[in-house]
Amino acid sequence: MSEARFKKIISHAKEYGFVFPSSEIYDGLSAVYDYGQNGVELKNNIKNYWWASMVQIHENIVGVDAAIFMHPTVWKASGHVDAFSDPMIDNRDSKKRYRADVLIEDYLAKIEGKIEKEVAKGHKRFGADFNEEQFRSTHPNVLRNKEKIDAVNQRMKNALDENNLADLKKLIEDLEIACPVSGSKSWTEVRQFNLMFETEMGSLAEEASAVYLRPETAQGIFVNFLNVQKTSRLKIPFGIAQIGKAFRNEIVARQFLFRMKEFEQMEMQYFVKPGTEMEWYDYWKEQRMNWHKQMGFSEKKYRLHDHLKLAHYANAACDIDFEFPIGFKELEGIHSRTNFDLASHEKFSGKKLQYFDSEENKSYVPYVVETSIGLDRTFLAVISESYCEEKLEDGSTRTVLKIPPFLTPVKAAVFPLVKKDGLPEKAKEIMDKLKFDFNCSYEEKDTIGKRYRRQDAIGTPFCITVDHQTLEDNTVTIRERDSMKQERIPTEKIAGILEEKVSLKKVLTC
Ligand code: ATP
Repeated sequence: MSEARFKKIISHAKEYGFVFPSSEIYDGLSAVYDYGQNGVELKNNIKNYWWASMVQIHENIVGVDAAIFMHPTVWKASGHVDAFSDPMIDNRDSKKRYRADVLIEDYLAKIEGKIEKEVAKGHKRFGADFNEEQFRSTHPNVLRNKEKIDAVNQRMKNALDENNLADLKKLIEDLEIACPVSGSKSWTEVRQFNLMFETEMGSLAEEASAVYLRPETAQGIFVNFLNVQKTSRLKIPFGIAQIGKAFRNEIVARQFLFRMKEFEQMEMQYFVKPGTEMEWYDYWKEQRMNWHKQMGFSEKKYRLHDHLKLAHYANAACDIDFEFPIGFKELEGIHSRTNFDLASHEKFSGKKLQYFDSEENKSYVPYVVETSIGLDRTFLAVISESYCEEKLEDGSTRTVLKIPPFLTPVKAAVFPLVKKDGLPEKAKEIMDKLKFDFNCSYEEKDTIGKRYRRQDAIGTPFCITVDHQTLEDNTVTIRERDSMKQERIPTEKIAGILEEKVSLKKVLTC
């Protein structure tokens, strides 16, 4: 856990036009953020990567873009009106509100940290002879801490399953969990708090009826299941994907893009024959993990984490957790949602939401395997993992975002060495050729060194410098972000190099 690093990343994101607090001139709005000129590019590139991986390359997956407002009965049928709440607890001294289960999970993460410290000590002591597996399964301190984790997890699961809020509070007291702000252990009762934002639709007060801002995008897919199936003539198994905004009145909201009140989800619902859902659940678990790994960050940063408490609709569920600067936390959820949603919408709408299976010669309500990832959390994962402060040979430091090249906001920056002698015109000519295929930027202010640093800070993989020699032999210097190596190449080779190094196609086909 690195608070200091997290703070640096947040201020870097602001300073370089990635993320701004919403309505900042009015002191901001808690847990709401705007994306700036570089942020929107990175975000769009992540969306494109997801869309291409899920929709474009799968013949049996199509997309939709459903409205944010939906008929209020949708949220009755989905269970959100009755059950979309978090168990909250307040600290009497700091007056801060927390999610009770998150307080307990943070406590468990600390014990997990102790285990990892013990293992690291073992590594140091025994060097190359260290047998980590044996150590983990025999060392008394590790075993004791593991037992503790299991016991607490079991108590938490029981309390959550039975919705026993008093037990949840007792667990917090028994573990002597203190408020991270005040250090006090004076807690209120645990209460359930619904996360949906409610507003009114209708011009006259008497006509007005309550509608919700959708808390997830999935329901827009379920209510369109028949429309899409009939008009696309897709055969099961098939998927419907969507990228869109979701809204949750999150109370614990001091975690930057990790927990926002307005955020974007990228979800895919895969409709399968009942009884085959576990096969598809395993399939999508693997596919989605590969999607993350193809970004090229360390595999150690990802963990699969099975859910102890299953949501009301699921018969299996897991998260792909990522090691954010605030610790390992959920980045994506993969859920086997049974036929809960479609069956429930059948009941509430009175419409048949079934699929006629011509091979079986019968109709059934399909089962659903869902993959649901937060776009903003993925953005946070990418910038957190990319952020580097490097000591250079001359003693200076550079801050560089080592964003995977296919995701960077700018693919190439084009510089004239000086602002005269026809160099700006030549640089613009090069830029004009590249800009239809790649997002490029042109800069002529400051020294080349300063311009390199600015591009490093936003992750630009290539900088192209036009100098006097360019006018003679039509060659430029191309400088690569990570190695900082410079090479002289003919201008006609630039596009090919960019195509090779920054293309999404390469990632999709490997
Ligand atoms: P958490 O337990 O962290 O609240 P969740 O299990 O409620 O998350 P889901 O309902 O499974 O989340 O939503 C799917 C994905 O949407 C999550 O994996 C996460 O990436 C993203 N997400 C959920 N809530 C938020 C939020 N408040 N801010 C940003 N992203 C979110």
